[in-house]
Amino acid sequence: MDDHARWVSRDAAVVWHGFTQMASYSDNAPVVVERAEGSDLIDVDGKRYLDAISSLWVTTLGHRVPELDAALAEQAGRVAHSTLLGNGNRVVIELAEALADVVPVDAPHFLFASDGAAAVEQALKIAFQYWANRGVAGRTTYLAFGGAYHGDTVGSLSVGAGGFGTDLFDPLRFPVLRAPDFAEPDCIDVAVAMVREHASSLAAVVVEPLVQGAAGMQLRPASSFAALARACADHDVLLICDEVATGFGRTGTLFASEQCGLRADLMCIGKGLTGGYLPMSATVASQRVHDAFLGPDLSEKTFYHGHSFSGNALAAAVALRHLELIREWDVLANVRARSAQLQSLLDARVAPMSAVREVRLQGLMCGVELAPPRDGLRWGRRVCAAAVDRGVLLRPLGDVVVLMPHLTVTEEQVTRIVDVLAEAIDEISSP
Ligand SMILES: *Cc1c(COP(=O)(O)O)cnc(C)c1O
Repeated sequence: MDDHARWVSRDAAVVWHGFTQMASYSDNAPVVVERAEGSDLIDVDGKRYLDAISSLWVTTLGHRVPELDAALAEQAGRVAHSTLLGNGNRVVIELAEALADVVPVDAPHFLFASDGAAAVEQALKIAFQYWANRGVAGRTTYLAFGGAYHGDTVGSLSVGAGGFGTDLFDPLRFPVLRAPDFAEPDCIDVAVAMVREHASSLAAVVVEPLVQGAAGMQLRPASSFAALARACADHDVLLICDEVATGFGRTGTLFASEQCGLRADLMCIGKGLTGGYLPMSATVASQRVHDAFLGPDLSEKTFYHGHSFSGNALAAAVALRHLELIREWDVLANVRARSAQLQSLLDARVAPMSAVREVRLQGLMCGVELAPPRDGLRWGRRVCAAAVDRGVLLRPLGDVVVLMPHLTVTEEQVTRIVDVLAEAIDEISSP
């Protein structure tokens, strides 16, 4: 057994990988990472892979960014963690102040958690209690979109559209009103009509602004979202924007809501918040939502919810430095330039291939939908495996190959990713 095989076997013996069939885990040539350098992940045999999925959409500036490493080490020299339940922490305050300057939410307040799903869960519970605290009865349901993905806890799974083999949990999911998915051009119009019709029973509308990521990068034009915000405002329904995937520069602006002209009552952030370093997420509440929870000490107006690692100080220190670096390095300009380059290369090289159905791109969120001649060919998985063989780490969503490079990706790296993708598609689709 070579070193790699030994690590895979030790791995499969004790680690249970998410969204992964463990019976075939070892057969699918998993990469076992030991360390990283910039854009590259390096495995236990020293083989390098260009990380073109940003470690499942979380890494923004690359791996082992010296400035972020330093922020982490400095904070470790102060305190790693102290609870936010009833007490404060200096670096968390500084982070919340810095975020408050940039999130598209009015006078925002931050309830921190560790995962995107928990941020969504918190938003759902806050929206529910908001109406109870205001003494309004009947506002107990949610409107969500087809194709939506909001995480894997039972509440976030309920507003999500299902699929990914999670239908088994349908009996546990609470019912919601379901607008069409983003692939339907009229989905926002339908959602607006549903808000009008059902406003008196709606606690909130939940939406991924601009891009439904896990649905395979389904896009809606930025201009179409204003009508949804207006309907929510007109009918006094809370708007929850799930920016867990789209936040922190992914779509070309710091938040997708900016392009869409949305100012959410509740916003969920996660993934890129710490540059991909540490698990941290947050539910961002507007002043109006936050103030509905004010009342006497220990009263029933309190939000009785909180996680052990809410506002972890190490994560906060990294997130704070990360936010500064996005500005200092003008990362958004790179996102826009590399996005334009990626679009033109894909248009020229990949979109015309008969094995490709559609290319969808917004900023540096990209889905290349393959067109297998019949079911069961596992083209998505096989194309990505062929790319991994060539040293570019990709991972599919079904038959959609996801391209999610770091926001600091270079011109040469974008060219390499497209070259390798085109070769991989060729290899799998040629008879
Ligand atoms: C990934 C994702 C989540 C869930 O985040 P986790 O950190 O994986 O729990 C929620 N919403 C969207 C839009 C996501 O892409």
